[in-house]
Amino acid sequence: MTDQLGLEPAEPKPAISQLSAPSLATWLEARGEPAYRLHQIAGGIHRSQTRSFDDLRELPGGLRAALERAFRFSSIERSHVLTADGGLTAKAVHELADGQRVESVLMRYPATRRSAARTTICISSQAGCAVGCPFCATGQAGFGRQLTPAEIVDQVLHWHRPPGTSGVGEPRGHYNVVFMGMGEPLNNADRVFEATRLLNDPARLGIGARHITISTSGVVPGIDRMLDELPQVNLAVSLHAATDALRSELVPINRRWPIGAVVDAARRFASASGRRVSFEYVMIDGLNDTPEQAAQLARLTAGWMSHVNLIPLNPTPGSRWSGSPRTVIERFARALRDGRVPVTIRDTRGREIEAACGQLHAQLAGRPLPGRHDATSGVAQVTVA
Ligand code: SF4
Repeated sequence: MTDQLGLEPAEPKPAISQLSAPSLATWLEARGEPAYRLHQIAGGIHRSQTRSFDDLRELPGGLRAALERAFRFSSIERSHVLTADGGLTAKAVHELADGQRVESVLMRYPATRRSAARTTICISSQAGCAVGCPFCATGQAGFGRQLTPAEIVDQVLHWHRPPGTSGVGEPRGHYNVVFMGMGEPLNNADRVFEATRLLNDPARLGIGARHITISTSGVVPGIDRMLDELPQVNLAVSLHAATDALRSELVPINRRWPIGAVVDAARRFASASGRRVSFEYVMIDGLNDTPEQAAQLARLTAGWMSHVNLIPLNPTPGSRWSGSPRTVIERFARALRDGRVPVTIRDTRGREIEAACGQLHAQLAGRPLPGRHDATSGVAQVTVA
């Protein structure tokens, strides 16, 4: 049974960021509030200075108090933030109402001669992950639970509402959001797609679909569904190996959807949406960085709207693998370019704050989040470098 907002009564107070415009309109109407309050509330909670319902000064006090009683301002209870790279990179571990923790990362890229300045927010779609990639700290920790749309959107809002100095510091919508944090987004497709629509809503953060990227380890039905429902959103595929034997070892979901099926789905997406697909490829020393893998990867990705992004492995503590040396990565990139594949090498941001997926979470597992948490924002900040 659900109430008039379409929410399960057993759930804790819903977070305001998850409420659709019709649900909020119904709630306002039931209170006898005028329709324009809907726009005041949606606009107000997405202002970067707003930290609580009490900051919505355009609303009468009674309505602010009613919002406080009915909804949570954020689904994130508290966050622990580390900044590095002179403030260009910041990572947060967010604690949710039931104690589950997820990570998000803010990365600023200053303008260069070839590109304008940009900011990217990397968010999680699940607490933990069931895919179990052996090089990934999240995969090693196992699966916790699916995140709700509010818990996904609130990670972006965390950075949109600057905690101290580490926030986005830009007007809403002027940044990129990538689903490359903890979890396999297409194993939580309903909620990830709903969160994407909420992020995209011009009355809220208004982040353009072309500034949002969903990254999958290769959930083929999810890629096809994304093409149906969100064709303007960017697709990235974590490939990490170009042959099935090796990929099944590195990305176990490959046993269910092998490389041929994944690349076919990615090609369908590219040709029907007109959007270029990115292949993420983590470079592991002596394992997947060989000339044979490069040649096979070029065969898979050349001649259609694809792009390869090489990522030096940021090894988890105790890992049996290490990242490929720079010279090997460059040789691999050259082989792809020679095969007419567009390729980039990702920079290694935030190594000193364990910025690879799940590493900071693993380091803090079983311990209270450190630092004094600001009473309003629930944020504790530490600057590392
Ligand atoms: S790399 Fe991605 S898909 Fe693989 S275990 Fe980690 S979070 Fe899951």
